[in-house]
Amino acid sequence: MSKLVGKTALVTGSSRGIGRGIAVRLAREGALVAVHYAVGQDAAEDVVAAIEKDGGRAFAVQAELGVPGDVHQLFLGLEQGLKERTGSTELNVLVNNAGVMGGVSAQDTTSEQFDRLFAVNAKAPFFIIQRALALLAPGSRIVNISSGLTRFANPDEIAYAMSKGAVEQLALHFAKFLAPRGITVNSVAPGITRNGSPVFDIPQAVEQMAQMSAFGRVGEPQDIADVVAFLASDDARWITGAFIDASGGTLLG
Ligand code: NDP
Repeated sequence: MSKLVGKTALVTGSSRGIGRGIAVRLAREGALVAVHYAVGQDAAEDVVAAIEKDGGRAFAVQAELGVPGDVHQLFLGLEQGLKERTGSTELNVLVNNAGVMGGVSAQDTTSEQFDRLFAVNAKAPFFIIQRALALLAPGSRIVNISSGLTRFANPDEIAYAMSKGAVEQLALHFAKFLAPRGITVNSVAPGITRNGSPVFDIPQAVEQMAQMSAFGRVGEPQDIADVVAFLASDDARWITGAFIDASGGTLLG
């Protein structure tokens, strides 16, 4: 397990949930990982400490996404952290994971809520990739975390699913654009995944959610992190522009 030795990675929203799992996994493969967060500094420092305890390398980067100047702030911290540790700002793996959910019916969704979903889930990943273009080395990897809800109807998450539909377009078009540089761009779509939110402490709720998966359990962050680690590795060099269903069979119906 050392497929990313000498590589650098940015995982947005990796202070908790799925992103934390991805950051820990990529660090275990040898990557120096930038653990990004918005408000959870203690949680992000905890992820860095866990990675270092495991023999890995990581540093925390703060930036609230979805507000003016967000990407600039993110890259100031990222570039400084990379330069201090590697002497360069080269980036090899970019995982656009940070996201916010809606949980509001179509009738009650406000224009502000809709804009926020798109600002964090779709606009920020586009401009993060745009800004990263100067840093990404030949053969780099971009993975965008989408959602099974782009294929599975849920009337309480229409605006959220729309924002994830937009994020999936990044893989299609950026994959073509970046292929000459050997850079792959793919989408990973989790199903219901244990992210530390209080609902996962309610056994009846977990049992109900587990029925969504063909395997009869909810996803764990590691289930998604393993897929991302594969896509980040050289083993996945021939996969680009793809939609990877990582929903544990939820989309089988
Ligand atoms: P969590 O809510 O557990 O964690 C979200 C992470 O993103 C945190 O690190 C948080 O940092 C960060 N974040 C949230 N909003 C912002 C923002 N505006 N600016 C910067 N950082 C932000 O998320 P999950 O682990 O559940 O989800 C991760 C990804 O997977 C998301 O894109 C989500 O849409 C997708 N997904 C999740 C599923 C699930 O069942 N969990 C299912 C399908 C897709 P901080 O705490 O500092 O705010």
